Amino acid sequence: MMRKLLFISLSLIFFSCSSSYEISEQSIANHLSTLASDAHEGRNTGTPGIEKSAVYIEKIFRENGLKPFYETYRDSFQVSPGLIGYNLIAYKEGIDENLKDDLIIIGAHYDHIGVQEEGEDKIANGANDNASGTVSVVELAKYFAKKKTKRSILFVLFSAEEMGLIGSKHLAKRMSAEKQNIYTLLNIEMVGVPLESQPYSAYLTGFDKSNMAERFNNFTRKNTFGYFEKAAEYQLFMRSDNYPFYQEMNIPAQTLCTFDFSNYPYYHHVDDEFELMDIQHMQSLISEIATGIEKMVNEPENSIQLNE
Ligand SMILES: [Zn+2]
Repeated sequence: MMRKLLFISLSLIFFSCSSSYEISEQSIANHLSTLASDAHEGRNTGTPGIEKSAVYIEKIFRENGLKPFYETYRDSFQVSPGLIGYNLIAYKEGIDENLKDDLIIIGAHYDHIGVQEEGEDKIANGANDNASGTVSVVELAKYFAKKKTKRSILFVLFSAEEMGLIGSKHLAKRMSAEKQNIYTLLNIEMVGVPLESQPYSAYLTGFDKSNMAERFNNFTRKNTFGYFEKAAEYQLFMRSDNYPFYQEMNIPAQTLCTFDFSNYPYYHHVDDEFELMDIQHMQSLISEIATGIEKMVNEPENSIQLNE
């Protein structure tokens, strides 16, 4: 009898441990093919197409038990008269009384440039830009949803990035006015195709701005983030949704990316399609990033800091 009880309780413990979410190629492919499908019409801010994407992402947040950070998952803002955009924000509350108020933002923009005027295929599906980053955030949200983390995490999908970082500018200003305690922000852009002949998995924009890459590589025990000369040359640090948070809050806020200007010819092109994405690469990169973030959210000190 005792032996049987012991067996049952041991298998229960084993079952609860093994039920943690695994980031799979299947799940990545499902989400990516949906967001980059013609039905989502290239996800231009304010269109029925991006509304489909928003509803799709909110459903995943809800099904995984992630709460809205504000009243709903939507943080709305006005782009221009009559045009409303929505950032989507899910909240994973930390469990450490002292550390849970330090918020970590994991972000990506989910909007794209929509339907083009010329050509046979008019829909710019934006699979690499930035359904790939969006799916990365969604997979990370699913990964951390059931985990106990010391710090709290905000999973943010920005809108109106393509119109000039309008969604992130709005949210950075809002959070700054609310005095939200954002520790650091990691933004994900164009990760659907691997870098060629680089010793690291992704480059980090604003590499010299902080010790983020050094700390992160320490967390993963891999050469995850590296310095890419062209990122500095083209000032990519200032060209994505990380930048308004750096400006408004003076925090380490950077973007990771695997687009190197020569590994993918369809930037802002109608041929930026799901079929060209390297799902195996994405699975491996997102898993590596998940490992790093897990250390980041649980370490005792806030070790990621801006350089002097
Ligand atoms: Zn982009």
